[in-house]
Amino acid sequence: MLENLSTDEIISRGKVALMNTYNQFPIALTKGEGVWVWDADCKRYLDFVTGIAVNSLGHSHPKVVETIRRQAGELLHTSNLYWIPNQVALAELLIANSFADKVFFCNSGGEANEGAMKLARKYAKKNYGTHKYEVVSLTNSFHGRTLATLTATGQPKYHKGYEPLPAGFSYVALNDIEALQSAVNENTAALLIEPIQGEGGVNPATEEFLQKARELCDRYHALLIFDEVQCGVGRTGKLFSHQWSGVTPDIMTLAKALGGGVSIGAIMATAKVAVAFEPGDHGTTLGGNPLAMAVGCTVLEVMLADGFLEGVVERAEYLRHGLDQIAAKYGVEEKVRGQGMMLGLTVGEKAPQIVDECRKNGLLINCVGGKTFRFLPPLTVEKVEIDEALAILDDVFSKLG
Ligand code: PLP
Repeated sequence: MLENLSTDEIISRGKVALMNTYNQFPIALTKGEGVWVWDADCKRYLDFVTGIAVNSLGHSHPKVVETIRRQAGELLHTSNLYWIPNQVALAELLIANSFADKVFFCNSGGEANEGAMKLARKYAKKNYGTHKYEVVSLTNSFHGRTLATLTATGQPKYHKGYEPLPAGFSYVALNDIEALQSAVNENTAALLIEPIQGEGGVNPATEEFLQKARELCDRYHALLIFDEVQCGVGRTGKLFSHQWSGVTPDIMTLAKALGGGVSIGAIMATAKVAVAFEPGDHGTTLGGNPLAMAVGCTVLEVMLADGFLEGVVERAEYLRHGLDQIAAKYGVEEKVRGQGMMLGLTVGEKAPQIVDECRKNGLLINCVGGKTFRFLPPLTVEKVEIDEALAILDDVFSKLG
């Protein structure tokens, strides 16, 4: 373990030892508590990124820490050769609070989406024939980095260099109902949608669009998959973001927040769909391990406690209001988008510069699509901490004009 190194030392050694796949900010975080994180030089930041919507309960939440300590002393891993009690417990909790009847656990969002598309293809072929394998997804979406999930990701920049891509994928624009109607047909196995696009710029699907998606899937016996990897698990103030609409999917994928910082992924499905997977059809070595499952149970228990999600909604409204005020004060034309603690504000070309300046002033936010700030604070963030973040943002806006 590297201890007592400065940020500069960590970065220079990292540049030698690590593959050059990320455009990293020049900081190395070494400690966190609640909404706060500290870097290797002991500088403190308000974390409104939370590892991209992962540290849902903040850093070092006492219940998560206690669960990890307890489970580490009992059993970390057994493989899915054996039944895993914590897996059953987490699946039961998820089922009791959702549309789903069955769950499969894996390690990440990309894996969950890969598995969801495999399940959809199996289901379609078994029930309707070999012609039915196409996946319709949305432009500007993000579903992961495996070959199939990057193909489903409707952003050409993620495809470049990996061609030939798997066959059977097409794309429509978010909220374009006519395009959706012409894209879905009897060859469609699945329609894959993020109810709120995260990486694409915090773009919510309209209720009308989701309803049309449901209607078309029913008409053509296609499966509706909601990718709630980023917007799910309490982020919007409901346990799952589609619960704000009246629309229910056949399959839903989760990851990120469910593990509160520990690697996790989940595919949830109705019984009718899940039965398409038989022994040997899908699997994972580490997915559903006792540690991740124990933490998942703790995260859900905290979120399902009386008043937790209501508190998220109330404090998220407070944050949105503050952002609206800053946007109005500095003449930002766009409105704040998103729901709950997943908010975006498009400010234009200066966004990366503002993100950098916020970081220098002790606030971590990030930028999607080069022009949009994304705010993903922990769901536990307090109003005083929101005030501190807004004050930094206000200051930076006033400096940068
Ligand atoms: N789906 C969505 C909506 C995401 O935002 C992400 C990651 O940001 C993924 C899938 C991929 O998840 P992971 O990075 O855990 O593979």
